[in-house]
This record gives sequence, structure tokens and C-alpha cells, in this order.
Amino acid sequence: MTGAHCAPTDPMQQDSLVYSDAKKQERYDRAYMRMAQEWSRLSHCTRKKVGALIVKEGMIISDGYNGTPTGFPNDCEDANGTTLWYVLHAEANAIMKVARSTNNAREATLYLTHSPCKECSKLILQAGIKRLVYQEAYKDPAGLALLQEGGVSIHHLHERISS
Ligand SMILES: [Zn+2]
Repeated sequence: MTGAHCAPTDPMQQDSLVYSDAKKQERYDRAYMRMAQEWSRLSHCTRKKVGALIVKEGMIISDGYNGTPTGFPNDCEDANGTTLWYVLHAEANAIMKVARSTNNAREATLYLTHSPCKECSKLILQAGIKRLVYQEAYKDPAGLALLQEGGVSIHHLHERISS
């Protein structure tokens, strides 16, 4: 290796959130979002299926989809189709999974198929997540507003029109 023109050993920028190469970042963002979408399909909820992925320093450290707590019946809705109050949202499940591990979500990126609700945005902030990538906008923008106020970098990944 000849010193001066070597690529830096750390491919991420100093904040470790994004690659300096925007095209590379876009490719990774789309790949992780495809995985979050795949995860959303695991949800037993019928009204809405949401997937989440937490990525830190280029590694997937957690995943989640909306559903009932472990050990409870999988049904998310009651007989009237109303979502049961104890259903956990995908991002809450992913954050709690990190809490059970020896890792943490500090400075991590959260990939979400749907933008977060108010309650989950509080968890996202408190978990130390610094970047959010989402695809579909949830009806209530209050969660996104809180994250923005809390200094979280937000990226709306639009569906690509091409095949
Ligand atoms: Zn939520």
C-alpha cells in the first residue's frame, strides 16, 4: 500500500451513519429496505404489516415486525378487526430485541417500512438511533416531527418506478 492515495480504512464518514459515496448509500438503503419489507411479511397482523431493521456500523443488529409479545396468541386484531392494545409495533420489537442482547442501538440506523407513530418515536430517540429510513408515510406526522426535533437524520426512500 502506498500511503497517500489509499482509501481510508473506515469506509463510513466520521459519524459512521452514511457512506461518503451517495450512490453506495442508496444501494444499501434500498437493500436494507427490501429486507425490512420481507420482515413485514412475517407479521401476523392483518390490518397493517410493518417491518423494521436496525443497522449499526454496517451490521444488522436487530429486526422486528409488528405483533403480540412472545408467548401470546399471534392474532393482532379482535373480532371487530380492531388492533389489540398490547400489539407491539415493529420498531418497538426491534429496539426491545437489542435491549435483550449485549448490543445497543446507539448511533444506529433504523429501516422502517412505515414512518413511526408518536409512541415509537420516543423509543427511537431514547435508544440513541441517529438515522431513520422509511418508505411509506404513516398518517400522523407527529412521530417524524419529534425525531426531527431530536436531531435524527430522516430519509424518505421513495419507491422506485423502474422495474
Ligand atoms: Zn409505533
